[in-house]
Amino acid sequence: MLHIGLAIALLILCGSYKEYPAMSKRTGIKVITIILTVLTGIKALTVLFGVMPAYYGSESDISNSGLSAFSSVMFALIVIYYGGVITLSVIACVKGYKCMNNNELTTEAFSEQQRVNAARAQQIYRAQSTANVQQSFTTENTAWQCKNCGKYNESDNKFCIYCGHIR
Ligand SMILES: [Zn+2]
Repeated sequence: MLHIGLAIALLILCGSYKEYPAMSKRTGIKVITIILTVLTGIKALTVLFGVMPAYYGSESDISNSGLSAFSSVMFALIVIYYGGVITLSVIACVKGYKCMNNNELTTEAFSEQQRVNAARAQQIYRAQSTANVQQSFTTENTAWQCKNCGKYNESDNKFCIYCGHIR
């Protein structure tokens, strides 16, 4: 089931990547493709060296023809299921590799990444300059006026430096 999920996720991601290339999607495709390739390889080996010998080994032992027929059906279903899963996984992996190796898409994804980075840098710059403006604004306006002598003191002062009146 994991294979099917990964294969479908990979196919969806590839479709999304082709429509709107982005580096994060390319990384996702790369990771899923590698994982799926390994998992599919393991599954294929399991079927080749595990399920098939188990079937052919058990077939000779079973004398009951009814049980043999049942295991033949089971075997056919298992082969169809595994065959389907492996085929789907291989198709998804091939698509993944094609997406990754498509230079046109990579270039687009890269320039998109640069656009995003530039926009982010600009946003941070704006946020910072806004913060700076607010900072200086607050500093200027936290000066307090002495109730006793009417002069202005810095915000940090606990008492008036001109007359000693406590704030
Ligand atoms: Zn004062």
